[in-house]
Amino acid sequence: MGNMVLLGVVLAMAGFGGAGLTPFERGEKWGYKDARGKVVLEARFTAAMPFSGEGIAAVLDERGWAYLDDTGKVVMRPLVVDNGPDYFREGLARFAVESRLGFFDQRGQVVIPPAFSFALPFSEGLAAFCVGCQEVAEGEHQAMRGGRWGFINRKGEPVIPAQFEEAGGFENGRARVKLGGQWKMIDRRGELAGAGPDGPAAPAAPQAGPRNIILIGWDGAQRNHVKEMIARGELPNLVALARQGKMVDIDVVSGATDTKAGWTQILTGYAPEKTGVYSNGRYQPIPVGYSVFERLEQFFGPQNIETRAFIAKKGHVDADGPRKVPYEQWLKKEAQQKKIDRARPGRGNLQGGRIVEEGGSKFVEVPGKPWYNAQDHMDSFVNGLRLNETVAKMAMENLEKSKDQRFFFFIHFAEPDHAGHGNGENSAEYSQALQQDDLWTGRIIAQLQGLGLWDKTLVYVVVDHGFNEGESGHRYAPYVFLATNDQQVSRNGTREDIAPTVLKRFGLDLGKIEPKLDGIALDEPAPERKAPAEPAQPRRAKRKR
Ligand SMILES: [Zn+2]
Ligand SMILES: [Zn+2]
Repeated sequence: MGNMVLLGVVLAMAGFGGAGLTPFERGEKWGYKDARGKVVLEARFTAAMPFSGEGIAAVLDERGWAYLDDTGKVVMRPLVVDNGPDYFREGLARFAVESRLGFFDQRGQVVIPPAFSFALPFSEGLAAFCVGCQEVAEGEHQAMRGGRWGFINRKGEPVIPAQFEEAGGFENGRARVKLGGQWKMIDRRGELAGAGPDGPAAPAAPQAGPRNIILIGWDGAQRNHVKEMIARGELPNLVALARQGKMVDIDVVSGATDTKAGWTQILTGYAPEKTGVYSNGRYQPIPVGYSVFERLEQFFGPQNIETRAFIAKKGHVDADGPRKVPYEQWLKKEAQQKKIDRARPGRGNLQGGRIVEEGGSKFVEVPGKPWYNAQDHMDSFVNGLRLNETVAKMAMENLEKSKDQRFFFFIHFAEPDHAGHGNGENSAEYSQALQQDDLWTGRIIAQLQGLGLWDKTLVYVVVDHGFNEGESGHRYAPYVFLATNDQQVSRNGTREDIAPTVLKRFGLDLGKIEPKLDGIALDEPAPERKAPAEPAQPRRAKRKR
């Protein structure tokens, strides 16, 4: 038994479920392979999600969403929510039999038999249920109306009897309920605990002024690929985040569609002309004071905000200082990089500057990396963490430590970019890497909720560049997105609009920022700036006669 538990833990850490199976795609259908690549379940599903640590996985077959065990047997047909299988909350998800709802666990076993007209997901050990309510269409959404609402515990016992006209989930020991046509708050015993806000229960994300902001970077996430995965229900945490606020299109309209240009632009709000960071190959340190980190430190005072970056990549989101490389060494490296670039476009860019002579030897001056200046004016800058899991765990440890202070975190995931370069944009590996981004994004959000920070924190999922369709590079890949619980985001935008949005939400007066920001906050109107289908041809310099 002990060994089995250990094995499960090891496999879960390696990104496999208890069964060690991973999804693969063949001819538009999905199946599962074992760790050695042997096909265990034939590709016959329209969609296939990774196995849970407990050994079940959600698939979409001809009858709809189902959970399978590792022999391919359907163990449960879950409730379908937003075109995907119901999410597990606190270890339980919902299913329905003949219009009666119940709950099952992550092994696919029924925990609460189907007995309710409807039920909301569990939160803080309780779930709202209703008796006699009915589904009605309200605009594009379905809503449950009529009947009476109460709350059940994890055994399915009605610990707060059905008596309310509507009810929401528990947060910080309180839930919203409607009684006599008015919204009120109740505590865990069902007793009134103050007046609730008017109107329907609004999501709990902070809308007036957040105390904290987190940018979660999904390096190299192509918009269309992400949207297809959303339609297949494969990015549940991204969808849950956007459902509280917005998901909008972001186009790259200045700077290269690469990593150095991307994160520099997102975290400064400037076009490359102001930062000197044009691409992975042409850059300099961002001028002192231009980054969001530095502006926030300056605005609040260093003691009053924690600014931290946890970054998967080493190259391109880097803070190394300037250096000189011997010329011969440089030529060798350059030749190597050109080869790499031919095999995997976008990977071989080599940064270099002037050639100088010193003491009879030639050197190439390599400029300092973009984050060279900023790293000294923020609380921490850690890069090269490589795996999503390492990045997320370090960020989560710091969230715990910073929970009582104001903070701005940048959390950077790079697995999709690596999978895209290695296997191509249409590969199963690229999709799996995006699922990993989604998984760790979800864990970070769950931790914020657990720490009681969700109503004080805005989260933006942002992307530096996409991928060329079906290719293994992003030479010109300007189509990305932004997803957030910020309800004030009101339109599509560009990479440089993100920093102004963050600064404005923290209360900075954008009009006072020098030099003038190139981006416009995403809650303000702006002229439409769409990326052209082809990159603008660089204008040839006229030859001087
Ligand atoms: Zn990138
Ligand atoms: Zn890349």
